[in-house]
Amino acid sequence: MTNDCLFCRIVKKEVTANIVAENEHCVAFRDINPQAPVHILIIPRKHVASLNEARDPAIIGRLSLLAAELAKSEGLADRGYRTVINTNADAGQTVFHLHLHLLGGRRMSWPPG
Ligand code: AMP
Ligand code: ZN
Repeated sequence: MTNDCLFCRIVKKEVTANIVAENEHCVAFRDINPQAPVHILIIPRKHVASLNEARDPAIIGRLSLLAAELAKSEGLADRGYRTVINTNADAGQTVFHLHLHLLGGRRMSWPPG
């Protein structure tokens, strides 16, 4: 946990977020600036700055499987959805606490911008 990390503060409930799911390892909450009808961020409770710093394969697995679970409960699983991890400047990462975006509810374009 780091005091100056926004997502650590959401984990600690020092900053309010619209939390949709929590478990021992992960927290999921709605993105404050949604880019699709459903836009949820799934984060590990433990502070990891980006995918570059991730060492525990279980963390990545847990983020992905919670995304699949939420895609089902949000009604996205059959029609489809996208999961994205932005890493560093070229990908546009703005919050340096690992997070997986779950986006759905509209048709996505490919390649991404
Ligand atoms: P990224 O650009 O991949 O680092 O994504 C960071 C995401 O965090 C962006 O989509 C922001 O809209 C979102 N975000 C920033 N602050 C908050 C917040 N307080 N609550 C929810 N989402 C946030
Ligand atoms: Zn953090």
